[in-house]
Amino acid sequence: MHSPDLRPDLLQGVGMTSQRTRDRMVARLADQGIRDPRVLEVMAREPRHLFLDEALAHRAYEDTALPIGHGQTLSQPWMVARMTELVIQERPARVLEIGTGSGYQTLVLSRLVSELWSVERINALHRRAGQRLRQLGAHQARLRLADGGHGWPEAAPFDVILLTACASELPAPLLAQLGEEGVLITPLADARGRQWLTRVQRQGSQFEQQRLESVRFVPLLEGVIR
Ligand code: SAH
Repeated sequence: MHSPDLRPDLLQGVGMTSQRTRDRMVARLADQGIRDPRVLEVMAREPRHLFLDEALAHRAYEDTALPIGHGQTLSQPWMVARMTELVIQERPARVLEIGTGSGYQTLVLSRLVSELWSVERINALHRRAGQRLRQLGAHQARLRLADGGHGWPEAAPFDVILLTACASELPAPLLAQLGEEGVLITPLADARGRQWLTRVQRQGSQFEQQRLESVRFVPLLEGVIR
């Protein structure tokens, strides 16, 4: 349910934020190899333009990452789609996201998983994302202002933990908050600073790493900015 204070014309969008533009984005995602119909359907429906400043909204459906302030970026549509595919193929009940940012990835996930937690370290982003998610009826997404490197201990264990900022090593608290067969999906920098989308599968006390595609994310940083 959308809240009444969200004007239907803003929600739906016009011109470069219209349904036609969203449909074109989704056709491109399918061309780029995104196969899961649930991901395509959600991204065709949800208003990505509402997660950007008004001045940038007309570029929301382009094949690019866009600034959201505070030196951070909303990931390009393909990246959001790919990570969402990786998350839901685990059929997870409990998902933790690190790096709420604009809240767009959070919104897409909230339509596809039953229990969702998301942590952001920059208060201004955390608050704005919370507002948008409430307006869009994504009430089950629980948000927290914190350093996500510590995870969300009280809500653990998680079936999937997704990082949307690049770590240089796997944060131990996050590995510890995975369920027995949990999966962590994260951009991970190698010794030369090149970033790889990485899937870490827990099997009891073992963690098996699998390197997927080359990616570019903002870094995972420590501490909280109020
Ligand atoms: N998924 C976001 C992407 C935002 S960019 C979106 O769709 O808009 C990555 C985000 O991770 C930034 O907002 C950044 O502030 C946040 N971040 C970086 N390090 C973090 C940490 N240790 N804990 C929580 N959030 C962090």
